[in-house]
Amino acid sequence: MVDARGREIRYLRLSVTDRCNLRCRYCMPAQGVEWVPHSALLRYEEMVRLTALLARLGVDTVRLTGGEPLVRRDLDRLVGALKTTRGIRSVTLTTNALLLERQLPALLRAGLDGVNVSLDTLDRAQYAAITRFDALEQALSGLEAALAAPGLTVKLNCVPLGENDDQLVPLAALARDRELSVRFIELMPIGLGGELPRRTQAQVLARLEAAFGPAVPCPAPALGAGPGRYVKFAGFTGRVGFISAVSHAFCDRCNRVRLTAGGYLKTCLQYRTGVDLKALLDAGASDGVLLAAMEEAIAAKPAAHHFSQGAQPQDEGANMNEIGG
Ligand code: SAM
Ligand code: SF4
Repeated sequence: MVDARGREIRYLRLSVTDRCNLRCRYCMPAQGVEWVPHSALLRYEEMVRLTALLARLGVDTVRLTGGEPLVRRDLDRLVGALKTTRGIRSVTLTTNALLLERQLPALLRAGLDGVNVSLDTLDRAQYAAITRFDALEQALSGLEAALAAPGLTVKLNCVPLGENDDQLVPLAALARDRELSVRFIELMPIGLGGELPRRTQAQVLARLEAAFGPAVPCPAPALGAGPGRYVKFAGFTGRVGFISAVSHAFCDRCNRVRLTAGGYLKTCLQYRTGVDLKALLDAGASDGVLLAAMEEAIAAKPAAHHFSQGAQPQDEGANMNEIGG
């Protein structure tokens, strides 16, 4: 489906839970998290039904997110069902990887196409400071398991925060000898992300070029690809990417919608605009009613975020663990 501004919507970020086994400081508070009640979370069957309807509107790519998607039981069952949903070509997962090593075999059997591992540092103490858990080793085992899986696309996502400045070069260096994309994601002023120091794409690139020499831009991706922009360094097997929603906004080519753990179809990360599909499901809505609600919401997708202009009344109030990143 094409929205009112000519953007073709093909990509769904599906948040399967707001729960998480970490508490990254830019994403969740240490304590006092108000969980979405279990009864208000979408069931897998509901997720599959809504995804199938979105596929009828043109969505062909689903990324599972959260909270931490691997803390929801039997995620492979959802992956398998989505993979056999008509129109869905790719099902991938964004994870902190703590539970990945154990669950990967079942996920691969279910047809998982790719994994994005979120990892902001290779330093154990720094990892514990950022995520509030001493779990770097588990995360690295998950990453290694993903890299060893044949045919699985693996990307690493790091949010540069200032305190991990010294880790940007070691993280990027992981792409030197491996078929891995290491991406740096600008911290967005959503939820707790508004309160922390950040580094821009230009600042990160300057550090990387000082270590690896000039970055050579990779050709612009095909229309419909994600927002990442990639470079190569001499001698590197993999690529280094930047997702820079603040300094290089990509709203004009945004192809995504989000379904929160509570069943709200969000059409822009920054605004609470969209439609409460869970309420419609609970009221016994037919496929026709759900499709019409989706179409109306997508048509009205906001033109752009306003990260640089301060808060506005209709802004999203939820933290990132509920939205799914
Ligand atoms: N728990 C999984 C993980 O960490 O990969 C999936 C959910 S997490 C919310 C998805 C992504 O959002 C992670 O890569 C995380 O680093 C990123 N994220 C969270 N808050 C953010 C913020 N304020 N700005 C930019 N990225 C953020
Ligand atoms: Fe959990 Fe992911 Fe948020 Fe970290 S970024 S607290 S791993 S949901």
